[in-house]
Amino acid sequence: MIAALSFKDKNVALFGLGGSGLVTAKSLMAGGANVIAWDDNPEQVSKSGEMGIPTSDLRHINWSEIDSFVLAPGVPLTHPKPHWTVELAHKAGVEIIGDVEIFSRERASLAPNSAFIAITGTNGKSTTTALISHIIGANDLNIQMGGNIGTAVLSLDAPQDDCVYVVECSSYQIDLAPSLHPSAGILLNLTPDHLDRHGTMEHYASVKERLVQKSDHAIIGVDDTYCRDIQARLKQNQVANTSISAKEILSDGLFLDEHLIVNSTDGQNSIVADLSGIETLRGQHNAQNAAAAIAACHTIGLSFDEIANALSSFPGLKHRMQPVARLGELLFINDSKATNAEATAPALKSYEDIFWILGGLPKDGGITSLSPHFGRVQKAFLIGEAAPKFAAELGDAVEFEIANTLENAVAHGYDAAKEFHAQSGRKATILFSPACASFDQFRNFEIRGECFVDQVAKIDGIDMLIPYESKGEANG
Ligand code: ADP
Repeated sequence: MIAALSFKDKNVALFGLGGSGLVTAKSLMAGGANVIAWDDNPEQVSKSGEMGIPTSDLRHINWSEIDSFVLAPGVPLTHPKPHWTVELAHKAGVEIIGDVEIFSRERASLAPNSAFIAITGTNGKSTTTALISHIIGANDLNIQMGGNIGTAVLSLDAPQDDCVYVVECSSYQIDLAPSLHPSAGILLNLTPDHLDRHGTMEHYASVKERLVQKSDHAIIGVDDTYCRDIQARLKQNQVANTSISAKEILSDGLFLDEHLIVNSTDGQNSIVADLSGIETLRGQHNAQNAAAAIAACHTIGLSFDEIANALSSFPGLKHRMQPVARLGELLFINDSKATNAEATAPALKSYEDIFWILGGLPKDGGITSLSPHFGRVQKAFLIGEAAPKFAAELGDAVEFEIANTLENAVAHGYDAAKEFHAQSGRKATILFSPACASFDQFRNFEIRGECFVDQVAKIDGIDMLIPYESKGEANG
């Protein structure tokens, strides 16, 4: 854990005692701060009390004695309206910061020369973060990965100059990190998302822009209009930058050409990496992630060859278009993280002859936006509450079956794919990309994905592509 030494003897109020909030409180205490923590949930308050973190209702403290107020990233800073603690802090003129800010200050004081790669964007953050970490680790450099990806950034080891920090940043974390100053900052893409928390697209984009504007070297996806405008401003502000595109040929930057990532400098092109055959980087969206990761790793001195050699062993991220098993020409993909139609689209675009398992708790809009990709689907297997709605939306465009449970859907999907292959000789993909929330049948998307994997593992003769421990009942 990082001890937040720059807060020694400071009075720090903290709100939000979830996973990262607890780590932040401990980190501040280890650094010698006087912490007072609170949460709207009494269970979290008593849990932190048991962990030795001092708690007090922040309505009743003397805010004029507080030096800094630390807000957990899940708590509204601006929209839909500022949390009550934010109003109290504003009134007292107390700075409001988050855990990434504390990390930034510790790094600036203890290891200012360490490489710090920060990653943001609407989609692909975790994949890119994990890919960069994989490439750096495969090249035997010291790496610490954290942030929004699930490991609280303050739970990393104390900053050291010879370590590379790879930190995924949500817009909330950027909003709470005024001195964020990465050596390389990535902004992958921008599409409307979380606008309930950011008010307008312009505000959302301006928060994300801050990460790249403050980077020594900015890496910017130029496949959407918001990011293209940001790239123009980076140039105006003379921030060193690399453009990346998965959609168009660039005369300067890294771009996708068929399966190849090409580097163009002053109009001179050279092939940097070949993504064909790398299952975990399939699809145009992953080419964007790979190009960004390549550019970031290049800024820390790795050669394009060293980077390219590591790409093919990227294990991918769980539940995100993750190849989990193979049986002859049949491939089984777990994309349980796809909880709405937009998140399912990349998976449908990435495979052909798909036996598609979908359903759960439907979101507004259903799956009608996916209709341009219906032609890639051989048959759909519908589960959960969404089944009747999705059946109506598929209509005559796609053959479907109401399978109700994931167990049935995997068994029937496999049978149908096997028969399709026997008749056509073509490869087929059994794709679990539900385009729905999980809560009607599962606690969360992770448990739903594990359930898919468990059902697949039961298939006779299956070749698991991921570490999997048989639960005893496998293969009967
Ligand atoms: P995030 O961390 O930003 O939520 P992830 O890397 O976890 O993103 O990917 C989540 C899903 O988003 C993937 O399953 C895929 O459907 C989609 N996705 C991943 N990368 C991109 C990208 N570069 N552009 C668009 N969609 C993407």
